[in-house]
Amino acid sequence: MIIRTIIFDLDDTLLWDQKSIATAFEKTCQFAASLQNVNASELEAAVREAAAELYASYHTYEFTQMIGINPFEGLWGTFDDPGEAYQAMKKIIPNYQRDAWTKGLEKVGIDNTELGLTLAARFIEERKKAPFVYKDTFSVLDKLKDEFRLVLLTNGSPSLQQTKLEITPQIAPYFDLIVVSGTFGKGKPDPSIFEHVLEETGTSAYEALMVGDNLLTDILGSSKVGIRSVWINREGKPPIPDIQPTYEIKHLTELLPILEELT
Ligand SMILES: [Mg+2]
Repeated sequence: MIIRTIIFDLDDTLLWDQKSIATAFEKTCQFAASLQNVNASELEAAVREAAAELYASYHTYEFTQMIGINPFEGLWGTFDDPGEAYQAMKKIIPNYQRDAWTKGLEKVGIDNTELGLTLAARFIEERKKAPFVYKDTFSVLDKLKDEFRLVLLTNGSPSLQQTKLEITPQIAPYFDLIVVSGTFGKGKPDPSIFEHVLEETGTSAYEALMVGDNLLTDILGSSKVGIRSVWINREGKPPIPDIQPTYEIKHLTELLPILEELT
């Protein structure tokens, strides 16, 4: 029962994506408030709402759900990836980005498409300038890298996940294998992507451990193929009935004693 391979999720497990998105919103909305009489946090709430509504209205929505690309990733990605579904997204996305901001402005009483377009572009810049990692990410990876085979298993579009790895270049070198759902064709929790990881690394399910923040993707998916899991629950999210992680932790450093116990 020795663990040989540790599979990490990327967003909100190693990278603090939520903080990056929140920071980009804050900066962009403050910029808007410097140009117009608008409350920055009200505008942020309005744009988040408008974005989620619009995103769900496109025919590409089902695909984005399957691969695991959320509305806020849609606000800064280009999706210029191979395949029909990505090319359909690539066509929609400039309008989506403009309209999400324009409709958000409308919700707070500002009718200005030009400003919507300016803010959409500003958000993309601000998101790229705001890559955050958790403070224990690198220290934990440093301790694991020589002893275990490390795999990065991330849901998302190949180009966008690649951009995230480029703006935080210290992450990728830790990993023996990086699997992006958009390249593989299906996303977590589909069992096939976990089986693919096991096959590629020559690991049995029993020798692998999945570490991730999302019960519905990371934990559910790994449990379907018999891989034990560690749910990193930093924010004290409530459990979901019937989705049972093997372990639950609040900080990545708590992974180290678990691995000692298992090996
Ligand atoms: Mg995640």
